[in-house]
Amino acid sequence: MTETIIKIDLNSSPYDNESIHNRWHPDIPMAAMVKPGDDFKIECYDWTGGQIANDDDAADVRDVDLSQVHFLSGPVGVEGAEPGDLLVVDILDIGTFDESLWGFNGFFSKKNGGGFLTEHFPEAQKSIWDINGMFTKSRHVPGVEYAGLIHPGLIGCLPSKEMLEEWNTREKALYETEPDRVPALATLPYADTAHMGKLQGEEKAAAAAEGARTVPPREHGGNCDIKDLSRGSKVYFPVYVKDAGLSMGDLHFSQGDGEITFCGAIEMAGWIHLRVNLIKGGMEKYGIKNPIFKPSPITPKYDDYLIFEGISVDEQGTQHYLDVHIAYRQACLNAINYLEKFGYTRAQAYAILGTAPVQGHISGVVDIPNACATLWLPTDIFEFDVQPGSDGPTQYLDGSIDVPLAPDKD
Ligand code: ZN
Repeated sequence: MTETIIKIDLNSSPYDNESIHNRWHPDIPMAAMVKPGDDFKIECYDWTGGQIANDDDAADVRDVDLSQVHFLSGPVGVEGAEPGDLLVVDILDIGTFDESLWGFNGFFSKKNGGGFLTEHFPEAQKSIWDINGMFTKSRHVPGVEYAGLIHPGLIGCLPSKEMLEEWNTREKALYETEPDRVPALATLPYADTAHMGKLQGEEKAAAAAEGARTVPPREHGGNCDIKDLSRGSKVYFPVYVKDAGLSMGDLHFSQGDGEITFCGAIEMAGWIHLRVNLIKGGMEKYGIKNPIFKPSPITPKYDDYLIFEGISVDEQGTQHYLDVHIAYRQACLNAINYLEKFGYTRAQAYAILGTAPVQGHISGVVDIPNACATLWLPTDIFEFDVQPGSDGPTQYLDGSIDVPLAPDKD
């Protein structure tokens, strides 16, 4: 039987578990050791460590303490791994706990985290998604059901001391260009809520003061939120420290490209089954700076889409130069406008784009001045016909159900 090398208790705080950490730092001790060729299971908290409840009140999303995230399981040490190697990780499977067959999607308040469309959805909202085997549906977003493309939103190896310094330096420089911005331009080290695994005392304090936050993806992978990094995929991670130190968490039952709602996908607690191997000196051999991966042989089969185009002209009509971020935002807003015609509220439509197996593509980046991005909405996830036709849109919903909203406090 495959051994579970990191266990969690959903009823206790992740801060009480020494195999959990919420910052990146090379001094965090290994939580467990394995050998190349080993396979093993690891249990993971949801990314907030249990701050969000399965209920119909979005106050917990509004009041979430984002300095605590992400709670990661690890680091797992791999015997023989050295800086410059590639750590080969087969994601053999990912699953839910029987006592926790649900996940959440939320939009953070603009004042506390924000999101891709925060100017359009400035207040906290939350939807709960029930997990039935490989499928999910939500009492807050009727009319859609789909198969999960289950994946870890966050996985990567510990940075070296030099790499950590580089991260902190460049992110602080960006932050300081506009320190009062809401939401902030970057998340800087913050010791008060740092959980450094087994580290205690002065060693912990020193590491916590400079430990990198887990929010951005970086050279090591980390919080990439790539929906296709799913069970069945094979990932090649750069190694920066002795024993590699692989950590992961932020499991997603399903997510649309871009994780546009930021909180984010369908967020869940669960377990992940991995196998590790090494390619000695692989970073140099293959010229690898960021991870590479091979996709799963198994993906939900949605092959009919409505594809929404967006260009780099913003909501005010201002022309931007080849800005893919703005172009994708326009594609998303165009999809929301369309779904609204079927009776969805704008929040429900946004939740669908954040959670369903939606594809995002950078379609053109050379045709000055407009970038073109496309959002691919799978049509078969809907219980009704979402195609355009001469009879006009089916009024599937009447507005009596919505995604719960928690108004900002003054
Ligand atoms: Zn997530």
